[in-house]
Amino acid sequence: MPPEDRAKNVIRAGIGYDSHRFEKGIPLVLGGVTIASDAGLKGHSDGDAIAHAITDAILGAAGRGDIGELFPDSDPANRGRNSIQMLKLARERIAAEGWRVSNVDVTVITERPKIGPHRNAMSLALGAALSIDPAAISIKGKSNEGMGWIGHGEGLACIAAATIVRDTT
Ligand code: MG
Repeated sequence: MPPEDRAKNVIRAGIGYDSHRFEKGIPLVLGGVTIASDAGLKGHSDGDAIAHAITDAILGAAGRGDIGELFPDSDPANRGRNSIQMLKLARERIAAEGWRVSNVDVTVITERPKIGPHRNAMSLALGAALSIDPAAISIKGKSNEGMGWIGHGEGLACIAAATIVRDTT
């Protein structure tokens, strides 16, 4: 740990991005919540783009790589994996270095589903994985106004920002 980090409380910010393609006939899992839908998000894991973007944001804030390094596609153990579990493991990894997550802010860019009705359930699931108050997790839905691959409903994208804190001991 650099000397300046030891001298005071340290706050760091990280950003994460993820996108997944919609596929008919598979479950839609988003923010740890299974949402009734005729199409889900295709992925090596359960395709939860919100959980993946937050995982990258907290790993990025701690300078600890990304979700692909922690959970490689090449590992069969990661197939169909629960992304909330991966988020929890990433949080434990940075917690081992003294970091706790302070807050998370997410924007989901998609034409469907509507995010608002699921926001509270998502914050609860994500808060449990991150060991923080659900009130410290913000999730916002945004349409792409019908433009491009998101507008045409091919898939969705998520951007997550997170701050992490290391308290003076
Ligand atoms: Mg992903």
